[in-house]
Amino acid sequence: DPTGARVHDVAVIAGDGIGREVVPAAIRCLDLAAARHGFGLAWREYDWGSDHYRRHGAMMPPDGLDRLHAHDAIFLGAVGAPDIPDTETLWGLLIPIRRRFSQYVNLRPVRTLPGVPSPVRGADTMDLVIVRENVEGEYSEVGGRIYRGEPAEAAIQEAVFTRTGITRVAAFAAELAAGRRGLVTSVTKSNGIVHTMPFWDEVVEQTLAGRPGVRLEKILVDAMAAKLVLAPTAFDVIVASNLFGDILSDLAGAIAGSIGVAPSANLNPERDHPSMFEPVHGSAPDIAGQGVANPVGQLWAGAMMLDHLGEPAAAADVVAAFEAVLAAGVRTPDLGGTAGTEEFTAAVARHLGEAP
Ligand code: ATP
Ligand code: MG
Repeated sequence: DPTGARVHDVAVIAGDGIGREVVPAAIRCLDLAAARHGFGLAWREYDWGSDHYRRHGAMMPPDGLDRLHAHDAIFLGAVGAPDIPDTETLWGLLIPIRRRFSQYVNLRPVRTLPGVPSPVRGADTMDLVIVRENVEGEYSEVGGRIYRGEPAEAAIQEAVFTRTGITRVAAFAAELAAGRRGLVTSVTKSNGIVHTMPFWDEVVEQTLAGRPGVRLEKILVDAMAAKLVLAPTAFDVIVASNLFGDILSDLAGAIAGSIGVAPSANLNPERDHPSMFEPVHGSAPDIAGQGVANPVGQLWAGAMMLDHLGEPAAAADVVAAFEAVLAAGVRTPDLGGTAGTEEFTAAVARHLGEAP
């Protein structure tokens, strides 16, 4: 930039369905926050997703990953459509991005927001972060089908856990906890899954041993499911495998009140590859095109991106702005309100200094 201002170069994949509505809404607000804090955001849009799949048989072009690699971060809406198998969406775009860019942490803050009632009693002060292992574990290609079509037909799927993979995600969780309330809850099923899960326990214990200000608590995933509902405020940082982290994220998100407000960051903590920021929700084809999608999940994901790009003050402004709008009673229909995406976004934009 000739003026010498900082500019962060972001790849945008708005994708499908409401992704095309909430991504522009978020970009409008993030640009305002950037202007207030003296930096720029250069958005480069990629028209990938279901339409690309219908035309070319793939969610993104063959050199898609190389093109993404040139950017500082990836801002994703949602990809997927009812006529396209979920496995295409997952294995044709999301998983290749996570793996190629070593985004081994999936970070999901879960917090009750003003004006977003929880279906669970006592969850009003819930404030936790789920650290999900994002590239290995149960989601593996190792396995197959044997004796196809015969009475003895069987399917085998191997989970792959590496010492490196467990150590780095546990270390990330520990560092995060050290800056919060100091509790790491590690979730496994070591009594039933007798090879990989005790290995996870062992490596997590070794990684956290001797870290000042961090306590480790271990819990079985079945007990964890119950405890999250019964005592949602008992947790700080939860660290779990790819599968367990996925399931617990949805559970915790539901306790927080709405899928429309939950953000997710796929992080490469070493920053040698771009990280990817997206809402937890999908393309929501049932409400797409109606202008009623809640943009908070996308906005919050955008705030996490600003934080990762080294702009924590701008990130905090974005979060404060949508919290203030929610607290003032402006809500989209998923939260029981009557505001559309545009009305909600305009209110957030005003908080961020947009001229009326
Ligand atoms: P996908 O296959 O892309 O994951 P999906 O329909 O399976 O899509 P979601 O898109 O996550 O799953 O949506 C689940 C439901 O939650 C939708 O039917 C929609 O009504 C609601 N929903 C999700 N996101 C939002 C949002 N941002 N605002 C309002 N409602 C939402
Ligand atoms: Mg879905």
